Amino acid sequence: MEQRIKGTTGLMMLIGSPVGHSGSPAMYNFSFQHHGLDYAYMAFDIKEEQVADALAAMRLFKMRGGNVTMPCKNEAARQMDELSPAARIIGAVNTIVNEDGKLTGHITDGIGFVRNLQEHGVEVKGKKLVVLGAGGAATAVQVQCALEGAKAITIFNADDPFLDRARSTAEKLKTEVPGCEVKVFCLDGQEKLREEADADILVNATLIGMKPHDGQSLVTDKSIFRPDLVVADVVYNPMETKLIKEAREAGCAKTIGGSGMLLWQGAAAYKLFTGLDMPTDEYQEYQKRCEDGADGK
Ligand code: NAD
Repeated sequence: MEQRIKGTTGLMMLIGSPVGHSGSPAMYNFSFQHHGLDYAYMAFDIKEEQVADALAAMRLFKMRGGNVTMPCKNEAARQMDELSPAARIIGAVNTIVNEDGKLTGHITDGIGFVRNLQEHGVEVKGKKLVVLGAGGAATAVQVQCALEGAKAITIFNADDPFLDRARSTAEKLKTEVPGCEVKVFCLDGQEKLREEADADILVNATLIGMKPHDGQSLVTDKSIFRPDLVVADVVYNPMETKLIKEAREAGCAKTIGGSGMLLWQGAAAYKLFTGLDMPTDEYQEYQKRCEDGADGK
């Protein structure tokens, strides 16, 4: 550490609350060290009403950039000088790039989702997707897939306040990406889901499947699982959700969990900060060594 941090070292930051559990500092600091870049990445517990001060600090300390997590993503978007197309449609940012005081906000969750599918040989262009959910992760997935040329997206959400958000996303996409047909349904049974599941890709982007909901899946009618239906989950804790396990056991040829999305959304931010490809293989090997205890973590 005393050799890494020098008088010239540039700071980058994660803001949000809580941030203590975040894997981002380890991932970015590993990558900076790997590439010999003179940056250090720290996490700061910042509440929504402190976002303006944090962004002023970003400019004052000439930080190259940073990441934003809940509950600061929407407020940060409101305070950007510029927004990427996806960040503008969603109204949220998770990545900020600072070009001489001009802050541009991006949202890389959807980019990470699409890249994770590509890593498994699946393209979204021209495809029909069914997406369960309308919260932060689901909206990012829906908007990015539409921007990347998906033919149709059907959104299902439970009858809760997020259902209105699904309708609002559909309205925005109608104007922003008219080539993508977006439909919204309330998830109040399996019948409509079965009808719409003639799709190419089915995605769970809800909290269901994540601890403590890990014993649950929103797809209970297993006749929905066809061998050529790609089934993806954004949930990465546990690594294999009930949905992914049941789809795999029912014979779906491609079942894709959420940990890759997490890695690739970070890699997309790293590319925006540095112009370089994040050393994802090396970082995953390092993580594995840490889990095995070899790095004395
Ligand atoms: P959110 O709070 O914004 O949205 C919650 C969603 O879950 C809504 O659609 C809501 O309707 C649905 N939901 C909640 N309880 C439900 C229930 N009982 N039945 C049916 N639906 C229910 O949450 P979020 O930030 O979008 O996170 C959702 C999941 O995505 C989490 O597991 C999170 O860890 C994961 N995530 C993964 C990545 C990644 O990189 N892999 C990135 C972001 C979020």
